[in-house]
Amino acid sequence: MEFNEFAINKLMYVTNRPEIVFTEGSGMWMTDHTGKRYLDYLQGWAVNALGHAPKCIEEALVAQSKKLINPSPAFYNAPSIELANLLTENSVFDRVFFANSGAEANEGAIKLARKWGKVNKNNQGEDRFEIITFNHSFHGRTIATMSASGKPGWDTMFAPQVPGFLKAELNDLASVERLISKKTVAVMLEPVQGEGGVIPATREFMQGLRRLTKNANLLLIVDEVQTGVGRTGELFAYQLSGIEPDIMTLGKGIGGGVPLAALLAREEIACFEAGEQGGTYNGNPLMTAVGAAVIKELLKPDFLPTVKATGEYLSAELIKLSDKHGFEGERGEGLLRALKLGKDIGPQIVEAARDLQPLGLLLNSPRPNLLRFMPSLNVTKDEIDQMLTMLEGVLVQLGH
Ligand SMILES: *Cc1c(COP(=O)(O)O)cnc(C)c1O
Repeated sequence: MEFNEFAINKLMYVTNRPEIVFTEGSGMWMTDHTGKRYLDYLQGWAVNALGHAPKCIEEALVAQSKKLINPSPAFYNAPSIELANLLTENSVFDRVFFANSGAEANEGAIKLARKWGKVNKNNQGEDRFEIITFNHSFHGRTIATMSASGKPGWDTMFAPQVPGFLKAELNDLASVERLISKKTVAVMLEPVQGEGGVIPATREFMQGLRRLTKNANLLLIVDEVQTGVGRTGELFAYQLSGIEPDIMTLGKGIGGGVPLAALLAREEIACFEAGEQGGTYNGNPLMTAVGAAVIKELLKPDFLPTVKATGEYLSAELIKLSDKHGFEGERGEGLLRALKLGKDIGPQIVEAARDLQPLGLLLNSPRPNLLRFMPSLNVTKDEIDQMLTMLEGVLVQLGH
């Protein structure tokens, strides 16, 4: 089929897309409508934790679709109970609320923090509702999560914003301290800013934030939609800094490609009352069965150590590439990494890599001077070498 035979104009315009229709995926590879294959370092935007079309997801979907797809959120179902147990047994959290997207999980975290701030008022007996977030952060595309995000331009895009979000600087504890008032209820951050350009919060900063929030009786919320579920080589990125947050959100990788997200909290924080939180699809057995299959795969003894080792390999190889081409090095955690190009050639590289023949390469440039790598967590060293060879070819072709 030719591209112009697809009636693409019936899709609402929201972004510029290349003239490619993807039809199949397997592991690290995706195939388009012409049969051309692409080595995929986007993986659904850091979503396909186990690559395209892994057997365990196919099996979970098929088995669960034959049993029960949605009994309604007013009733318990077995897969959601199993997944909630897997998540709490392997984290510092006690209670889980399932959602359908990262933004929705973050909305839930904001609501839970505001509710907690009504229960735990300030010493003048007033509700607390302000949440300190960070410049360049990304928390989603609902009105409240856009307001929480620190993306330049987002404060006026759909004005007026939801009030109550103050922006501090990542890795600058004093900038957080300055914003704390009698209205503050929480601090919310990504342990590694993903969309902002793969900028890790330092271990000292995370530990400092935990001390600061504990002393000021504030909640610490980690948005692990991108960093959670094995991406950094730990099951959750907060474990890298040895702290215990109060609330965590998950999305992306937890569904291995299907829409699933989660809001987790410690027992004493989980203060929703009947009717305050819910959703028609939330915790449905079809998606939570997939989530349970993904987490069980990650909990196999060799899985996370291998993510760590592969991440170190990718890091070392990117440094070599950077040295060779006079770039500015790389950064990241585990298998969420960025190559610092030092000049605004990211979009040009992304396009040329995609157009390579006969095999294409899918990369991402979250900022024009960066390339971001977010392969499946089970990517092999061979697939990293192949990507580097292709990228090298593009750099030579473009004269970089
Ligand atoms: C992707 C992302 C979100 C939003 O998730 P959606 O599923 O797109 O709503 C929120 N926070 C972070 C850190 C993300 O990377």
